[in-house]
Amino acid sequence: MTKPVVAIVGRPNVGKSTLFNRIAGRSIAIVEDLPGTTRDRVYQDVAWQDRVFVLVDTGGLEISTDDDIGKMVRAQVEIAIAEADVIVFLVDVTDSVTIPDKEIAEVLRRSDKQVLLVVNKCDNWSRRDHLAEFYELSVGEPVAISAHHAIGTTDLLDAVTAMLPSGEEQPEQLADKMKVAIVGRPNVGKSMLLNSILGEDRSIVSDVAGTTRDAIDTIVEYEGEQVVLIDTGGIRRRGRIDRGIEKYSVLRAIRAIDRADIAILVLDVTDPLAAQDMHIAGYVHDALKGMVVVVNKWDLAIELDIEAPHLTQVIAAKLKFFPDVSIIYTSALNGEGVTDVLKYSKKVFEERNKRFTTPQVNKVIKEALITHSPRTVKGRRLNVLYATQSEVNPPTFVLFVNDSNLLHFSYKRYLENKLRDAFGFKGTPLNLIFKNRGEK
Ligand code: GDP
Ligand code: GDP
Repeated sequence: MTKPVVAIVGRPNVGKSTLFNRIAGRSIAIVEDLPGTTRDRVYQDVAWQDRVFVLVDTGGLEISTDDDIGKMVRAQVEIAIAEADVIVFLVDVTDSVTIPDKEIAEVLRRSDKQVLLVVNKCDNWSRRDHLAEFYELSVGEPVAISAHHAIGTTDLLDAVTAMLPSGEEQPEQLADKMKVAIVGRPNVGKSMLLNSILGEDRSIVSDVAGTTRDAIDTIVEYEGEQVVLIDTGGIRRRGRIDRGIEKYSVLRAIRAIDRADIAILVLDVTDPLAAQDMHIAGYVHDALKGMVVVVNKWDLAIELDIEAPHLTQVIAAKLKFFPDVSIIYTSALNGEGVTDVLKYSKKVFEERNKRFTTPQVNKVIKEALITHSPRTVKGRRLNVLYATQSEVNPPTFVLFVNDSNLLHFSYKRYLENKLRDAFGFKGTPLNLIFKNRGEK
């Protein structure tokens, strides 16, 4: 199922990131604050009223528009219109209606998107008296909130949830096939890489309509099996939509990642691991998808005096939250390394589909508990009574414990590492679910 996307737009300082963190904060169960694992979040899955959607703070998208704030906000709004299902248009009650607000409202009115007008910083009742002023924007009834004081945010979530489209199902014919999405910043060479993959002597089986409006997936034959290449950012159809917007469209990448088994994160050797690369990698990890890192434009490496082993180390260190991810080198320009892309994707897909028996899993967990037992918390100690692998793709393990409150995230990571040592799972996150004894 494709998750709907909800984007927060608005001019600077109205409180977009405060609102994002307020809503997203409740969804982040375990905050992992180890060096190298923290990253700015601009996307977060939010679960509310039996629905899950991806919340995006468009203010956090890095869009280079020569530091022109007006242009930047317009670009953010256009991205939201192109990609989001629901747009939360945030304004600031203390400023009343400003000219930039009117400009944004006009663009939103011309779109066919669902818009929710939200008036922030309504910290007290006297400020709410100014709510009516915002009818002037003609984008519907204003909803009053205070993101900072957490006032009105549950009503806001209710309103957003009511506006979400019904879930889209993955087309039947794509089930069971390996689905690969090529993602990355603009200009890293995604289009060229895709064309290079398609250009090899491998026949395109067919194009099928993807689940989102104008996405086209391509089915190709690889080693006797059909592989689905998910179109991201319309990389095969230049010129249809304004290429400028398309290029900055990270939201498309999110949708593609949601539908994929494996994300190919393409980096540019001349500027590997910019902040946005980390955002995408973080999203892939949180979505429990497999990943292969592709350093493209490798033909420029000699000129730049870059050596693969060193760069591999640097990248691996930055992507510590993705243990053991494969890092490969390509030149989409001259074809070097391009065959590795599907080769490594397939390896990760096979890892994701490994299945181990309950006795095998239990043995690993038991040994892990003996080798290094959990620390006691107020005289009590975590005990894993029973563990089993419940799913593949992503590999999912259910561990029944005496009391999940006794679980520290560092111990969770330790157990995950032990499962990896025993079973592999290279290139994919694992889903570890801890349940209390007796819990279904
Ligand atoms: P953004 O640029 O739209 O992402 O805005 P920020 O989230 O960075 O917020 C801008 C400023 O407004 C910060 O100083 C926030 O603390 C403040 N702010 C955000 N929400 C509220 C609110 O509900 N009430 C008040 N009084 N201040 C807020
Ligand atoms: P996208 O925005 O990620 O789809 O990137 P494009 O495929 O449009 O490529 C952006 C630019 O990088 C174009 O000018 C390409 O010619 C260039 N490019 C792409 N791959 C390579 C490569 O492997 N080597 C070199 N030198 N240039 C490349």
